[in-house]
Amino acid sequence: TQDNINELAWQKMDNLIPAIIQHAGTGAILMQGFMSQDSLMATLTSGKATFYSRSKQDLWIKGETSGNFLNVKQVLTDCDKDSLLIACQPIGPTCHLGTESCFPEQKLSQQNFLSELEQVIASRKSDAPEDSYTAQLFSRGTTKIAQKVGEEGVEVALAAVAETKQDLLGECADLFYHTLVLLQDKNIELSEVMAVLQQRHQK
Ligand code: AMP
Ligand code: ZN
Ligand code: ZN
Ligand code: ZN
Repeated sequence: TQDNINELAWQKMDNLIPAIIQHAGTGAILMQGFMSQDSLMATLTSGKATFYSRSKQDLWIKGETSGNFLNVKQVLTDCDKDSLLIACQPIGPTCHLGTESCFPEQKLSQQNFLSELEQVIASRKSDAPEDSYTAQLFSRGTTKIAQKVGEEGVEVALAAVAETKQDLLGECADLFYHTLVLLQDKNIELSEVMAVLQQRHQK
C-alpha cells in the first residue's frame, strides 16, 4: 500500500532503495536494481518488477524490450527499511548478457538443484521437444510414469542391500527425477511436497 511505501527509508539515498531480486523457486539471486517510490508502486500494481534507471532517469520495466519479465511473488523489506528483497518467477534469462542471473557464479545449496530440475521438466512438458526423454514420458501418460516411479523405488531398495554405493546413488537419482516428472504430470509443485515435510517437522 501507499502507507507501506511511505514508511521506507527513501531519504537515506536520493529517494532510491536497492532491490535484490531473488528467484522464487530456487532462492538464487538474479539481479539488483534501484526502485523509486513510483517504480515500487508500479511493481506492486503490475506484478512485474519495475526499476528506476539512473542512467535514463526513468522507470524501467525489466523485460520491456527483451520480454524477460520478472513476475513478482513476494516483496520484503529489511530491518531498517532501506532495502527490498523481491522474490520473482523470471520469464527467461534475467541478465542482459543472457545468463539466468547477473551473478552466474553464485553458489547455491545443492537442494536448490531439485527446483532447477523441476523447471527444466516443466519446460519439457510445455515445449515437448522431439528428442527429449522427459517429453516422451509425458506423452506416454500418468500410468506409465507412475510405473517408472514404482520400478525405480524397487531398484533403490535392491541397490541398497545388494549393490555398490555408486549403484545406489544412480538409482536414487533415477527415483528423484521420475518422481519430479510424476509431480509435474499431476500438476503438483515440489514446494507442496516440501510443505508437507515441513508441517510434519513442526509437530
Ligand atoms: P530488458 O529490461 O530485459 O528489456 O532490457 C532492457 C535494457 O535494460 C538492457 O539493454 C540493459 O541496458 C538493461 N538491463 C536489462 N536487464 C538488466 C539487468 N539484469 N541488470 C542491469 N541492466 C539490465
Ligand atoms: Zn537495511
Ligand atoms: Zn546482468
Ligand atoms: Zn533405475
